[in-house]
Amino acid sequence: MIQKSAILNFPKDLLDRPVISNVIRNFEVEVNILQASITPEEDGRMFVIFRGGKEAVEQSLAYLKNSEIRVYLPVKNLVWDENRCVHCTACVGQCPSSAFTVDAQSRQVVFDAARCIACELCIPACSYNAVESISEHLAKTGGQ
Ligand code: SF4
Ligand code: SF4
Repeated sequence: MIQKSAILNFPKDLLDRPVISNVIRNFEVEVNILQASITPEEDGRMFVIFRGGKEAVEQSLAYLKNSEIRVYLPVKNLVWDENRCVHCTACVGQCPSSAFTVDAQSRQVVFDAARCIACELCIPACSYNAVESISEHLAKTGGQ
């Protein structure tokens, strides 16, 4: 069983096609839609996590690509500034992959970069600007 996150961009003329239902039915994978923004005037964008057998997930991605959906596989790209973190735990509930958790002993929030799937749901959840994408971080710091 593997888990793979992907950003899907749907061209306008594909918005009314049941491609996600087809993936679930044809390949027997779980599809968890974390974010979706679809309007009739624009292309649609979804951030999804696929879970299933390796071959089934790969077949699902190939099916989507063959359906002319643009599929982007995000790389891990999060920066956590521990010095800014006040351990409020707001990010923990948002994090679908348990990259942010609360340490049972210290009650402090900890970040495991290896688990991060780069969905960026924690960024707006953090009121203390303790998390940002690498691209934001580089733009601010000039690569420092
Ligand atoms: S939301 Fe921000 S400040 Fe709160 S625990 Fe997460 S990283 Fe730390
Ligand atoms: S980007 Fe944030 S919310 Fe998403 S998996 Fe990584 S740590 Fe969790």
